[in-house]
Order: sequence, then C-alpha cells, then structure tokens
Amino acid sequence: MPNTLSSQLASDKKIVRQYLSRAGAPHPMSAADAEDCKSEIISLLNKRNARLVAHYYTEGVLQELAEETGGFVGDSLEMARFGHDCDGEMLVVAGVRFMGETAKILSPQKTVLMPTLDATCSLDIACPIEDFAHFCDAHPDREVVVYANTSAAVKARADWVVTSSIALEVAEYLSEQGKQILWAPDKHLGSYVQRVTGADVLLWDAACIVHEEFKSRGLEDMRRLHPNAAILAHPESPQAVLEISDFVGSTTQIITASQRLPNEEFIVATDRGIFHKLQQASPTKTFIVAPTAGEDATCRSCAHCPWMAMNSLESLRASLSNPVNAIEIDPEVARDAMKPLTRMLKFAREQRLAVRGKA
Ligand code: SF4
Repeated sequence: MPNTLSSQLASDKKIVRQYLSRAGAPHPMSAADAEDCKSEIISLLNKRNARLVAHYYTEGVLQELAEETGGFVGDSLEMARFGHDCDGEMLVVAGVRFMGETAKILSPQKTVLMPTLDATCSLDIACPIEDFAHFCDAHPDREVVVYANTSAAVKARADWVVTSSIALEVAEYLSEQGKQILWAPDKHLGSYVQRVTGADVLLWDAACIVHEEFKSRGLEDMRRLHPNAAILAHPESPQAVLEISDFVGSTTQIITASQRLPNEEFIVATDRGIFHKLQQASPTKTFIVAPTAGEDATCRSCAHCPWMAMNSLESLRASLSNPVNAIEIDPEVARDAMKPLTRMLKFAREQRLAVRGKA
C-alpha cells in the first residue's frame, strides 16, 4: 500500500468551499447578446494579435470560438505547447490558473491573459508551497514528481512535472532506475500510478473535487440501465470507480477511446465539459454523465468544475477589453519550474509519446 501524508489542510473541504464561494457563476445570455459578444471578442482578438486557447472542460461556445479564430482546444499541456508555437503576441487562456501559469512559463515573452484570475483548482489549493517544501525536505531521498495541476512555485520545487497520460511511463522509468517517488498532489492518480507500475510512491493527500464525487455504486446501477455502454474514466477518479471502468485515461485519451471502441453508448466519469468534443468526434454515439454523490458532494455543479465554469463569453470579452488579468510569475520561480517541465517534454519525445494531459 502506498504511504499517505495526513495533511489537515489538504483534506479540509471547508477550505475548498471558501474558494468555491468566490467562484461566481456566469450570467445567462440571450442568443442575440451571445452573438454580439462573440463578434466583439473576435475583433478584440484580431486587434491584439491574440490567440484563444481553451480547455476541454470549458463551455462548448468557447471551444468553438477558439477553433473558429485560429486558436486551440486541448488539455493543459497541449494548450501550453500551442501557445508557445503559435505566432500570436498574446495568449488568452480559458481554463484555470495553473494552465495560464504553465503557458507563461513556456512563453515568457508573450502576454498571457485569463478571463478571470480567480479560476483555480482544488488540487492546486490543497498543495501550498510552504507545506509541500516541508514535505519534500522530510524525504530528500525521493524523486519529486508533481502533477500539472499545481502552482508554478510547486513545479519549481519538483524534479518532474507529469500529465495524466505520461504519469505511468515516468513512474515506470524512475522505478526501473531504483528511485522512490514523492507524488503530489492528486492521491487518486498517484495511487493509480502506484497500483499499475508497482513503484514505491509516497502520496500527498489531495483530490479533484469533481472526479472524487463519482461513485462506483451509482455507476454499477447505471451500467445495469445501459448494459452495452462502456465506462470511460479519468484516473483522478477514486479507485473503486477505476476498477469497474472499461477504459482509464486522460481527457485526450478518453476522446480517442470513444472513437476507437465499437460501443454506441458511453458512461463518462470526467468533467462534462468534455462532452462537446466527444459528441463532435462521434456524432452518432451517445454519451452519459457518470453519477456523482448528489447533494452532499463538495462539487456543487455535478460533474462540472465550478472554476472552469467561470470562463464565459462575458468574462472573456471583459478580459480582452481591459487586459488586466495577465499572469505574472517571479522570474526565478519560472526559471526553476521550466526545468521539470522541459524534462517531461524531452522524456516524452524520447519515448515517442504524445503527451496529452487533463485538467
Ligand atoms: S476539474 Fe478538478 S482537476 Fe480540473 S481544474 Fe477543476 S478541480 Fe482542478
């Protein structure tokens, strides 16, 4: 069994709820207002030579706008890579804060804007740099591997950054070298990595508030209702959910699996923002949201990240009109965070892997 750090801070859902109380929901917009807003955004993107990069978990309208305007839709690392390679002077990142930070680390010369700087992530919140540095100092013999869903400061303290699609390969590689791993912050993904690879993994105790609410019992009930459906799950989900799933993988891998598998129906245990791409990729197939814990869940929006939901046409227009939501990172922190990020990219190239991560 992997070791687990007992962190008061990391497991305290009250702290997450405090952040959630600041995550205001976007105002509904009429179809006519939405069209006007989109036109304004397109002209502001052109005026500022900016590219819109959106995560799979954002609203479909933002994903469409990104693709229509020469921007990009993908997972966090693909977003950052696109930002680095594209010719725009400015990047507008529709996602959560660590995605904007990663984009800025990889493209320091570009202005990186976000619709809101309040959009965060429960994994990032539950891994503050002071506690994390203390944890690392207590285990100096371990290789420090952190998930992409962390602050720039936590990345700067790490030996490796990984996304969900390369986590297994990196853990296997380190294990073969006889190295022990200190893993943060997602305990479910870390535990999955430990089970599959057999690596010696010491876990930080944090979870994604969206994926943690998927329940195996509800999933079993749903499978009985849809006996021909395949269950697709993100590895941030609890072990009991992963054990009854037909496929476990990152967001991009889930989309690919849904195209590859012969099933016509899928029950999907990840943020429902991904349904836009799933349906686009397989228009004739049926996708069903996996059941969550219901009223007692921390996730107040049922399989949809409340921070991702803060990205809206309105907040995007406001950010482009008055570009004050720019990501700034201490140059020393950015320099140190670049090292584990580039290590992962180099490793992926050498392994000929497509590095495609989640949220
Ligand atoms: S879905 Fe979960 S992992 Fe992704 S940004 Fe939201 S809280 Fe973080």
